[in-house]
Amino acid sequence: MTDTDKKHRPRVMVIGLDGATLDLAGPWLQAGLLPNLAKLRQRGGAGRLRSVWPVLSPSAWASFATGVNPGRHGVFDFAQRAPNSYQLKLVTSQDLRAPTLWRLLSEAGKRVAVINVPMTYPAESVNGVLITGLGTPDQQVFSHPPELSSKLRAQGYRVNKSVFYRPGREDAFLKDVYAMTYQVGETALSLLKQEPWDFFMVVFRDTDELAHYFWKHMDAEHPAHNHQHDEQWASTLKDYYIHLDQWIGRLVDAAGPDVDILVMSDHGMGPLYKDVYLNDWLRQQGWLKTVARPYPPGGWLGQLGLTRSSVSEFLQTVGLAKFERWLRARLGKAIQLLPANNRYHFPDAIDWSHTQAYSYGYHGQVYLNVIGREPAGIVATPADYERVLSMVENGLKGLQDPDDGRPIVSNILRQQDAFQGPYASLGADLVIVMRDMSYITRQGYEFSPSHKSFVSRPNSFESGSHRIDGLLFFGGPSFHSILDIPTCSILDLAPTIMYILGLEVSNKLDGQVLLDYIADNNKLTTNLTDAYHNIEALSDKNLLTESEEQELLERLRNLGYLS
Ligand SMILES: [Zn+2]
Repeated sequence: MTDTDKKHRPRVMVIGLDGATLDLAGPWLQAGLLPNLAKLRQRGGAGRLRSVWPVLSPSAWASFATGVNPGRHGVFDFAQRAPNSYQLKLVTSQDLRAPTLWRLLSEAGKRVAVINVPMTYPAESVNGVLITGLGTPDQQVFSHPPELSSKLRAQGYRVNKSVFYRPGREDAFLKDVYAMTYQVGETALSLLKQEPWDFFMVVFRDTDELAHYFWKHMDAEHPAHNHQHDEQWASTLKDYYIHLDQWIGRLVDAAGPDVDILVMSDHGMGPLYKDVYLNDWLRQQGWLKTVARPYPPGGWLGQLGLTRSSVSEFLQTVGLAKFERWLRARLGKAIQLLPANNRYHFPDAIDWSHTQAYSYGYHGQVYLNVIGREPAGIVATPADYERVLSMVENGLKGLQDPDDGRPIVSNILRQQDAFQGPYASLGADLVIVMRDMSYITRQGYEFSPSHKSFVSRPNSFESGSHRIDGLLFFGGPSFHSILDIPTCSILDLAPTIMYILGLEVSNKLDGQVLLDYIADNNKLTTNLTDAYHNIEALSDKNLLTESEEQELLERLRNLGYLS
């Protein structure tokens, strides 16, 4: 056996950083603040990693995990329209219609360890261990094997944060972020040492959440930036990237020099300026009709903005949380008379029999109300579809922000340009990019709460939001040292990892093996793997119980992701 043979039991470790962007990491790398990422780049390369539409954790992580676009794996958002209904249902790992990398590796006899990857709940039975991530209800079995959950819980492991971000609560929030980071890092380190593995993966979530909430503090150009108040949080995001770089160093060192490493993100981040209520605009154009006058569920109190959550937020914001407790103690159940929030339940607010186009979900997704696809569709023929689609498209091109008179829409993709495959028709008919994603639609705010304008300051505490380009760093024995690479696709990573680990790579995957960066690249096969052939839709049933679904909805709402 030669030295190369001995070395070649290939192993791969992936460190995922949700929402990490090269726009931030690049300059900090240059400044010498991220030495472990810099070392990795020296052993391989670094560049931008292009995500998929719509640019959201569920669609993006599912695309990473399967190597196919949402049109083939069927996951587009946190919640999707249930079949034959306008009501939305939460998406879980059970909705994935394509096999995951860890499943294909397991079936090929490889050992895997997968930790905290979003949308992996309920846990698949893999050959190895899997701990589920974002989208996991508390108090549930969150692992394979199931008994690992109670073992981890006994050690204090939490799948979810316990503190939600609110202005004025920054310290408590950050303390929780660092505690969660420590817990995920330590769990990864100990499994890395204890478990036999060929493929190891861990995701750190808070590069995303911190950028959502703390962006304005470091960005002097941001309209919500307040120089005096922001100074103390100006370096929060930078400090966190530096902190994660140390965890990356620890994990890479523990894995050893023979392991190929990929550090990647599911999408990037940038500033968020405004929320857009496309349904209000569609209604103004006459393409959407609401039922009578759609008061928010809170009636006139809600119209005045007097809701339980707004009163509570207000008191927290002005540092009167104590007063809130007093108020609650005095008012008791009377406070329940205030409506919980002033958001519409949009499927009930729309008169579907007179609606040609509607919007729901994040970032800018417009759907036509199509006969046969939607339960009360009115767009009948392909000619109608084309006519309505062009009409909406042209209207969108002329959409302006009344505040500055400039166009809002920077790019529009039609369904067939954004999605390919058997589930493409579950995706939006139009994917709309507004001011390079600094303007977004927001799930749960399908109509403007105020009726005043279809554009407003963000209806949340967020000042940052997603961008399509994330980051990729790689290095290890399988790679050339290239340093900087052009943008590649998140879809390329699953096939590249399968290739390095010696699996046949299916030509049904959308991504390509990144052969240009691989040192020994003469063994490529493009045969279909049997595994890929045999695995059909995993399941159509939603395994969440009613109470789990309620808990998850509440959690996602608290994170700002859902109504
Ligand atoms: Zn995010």
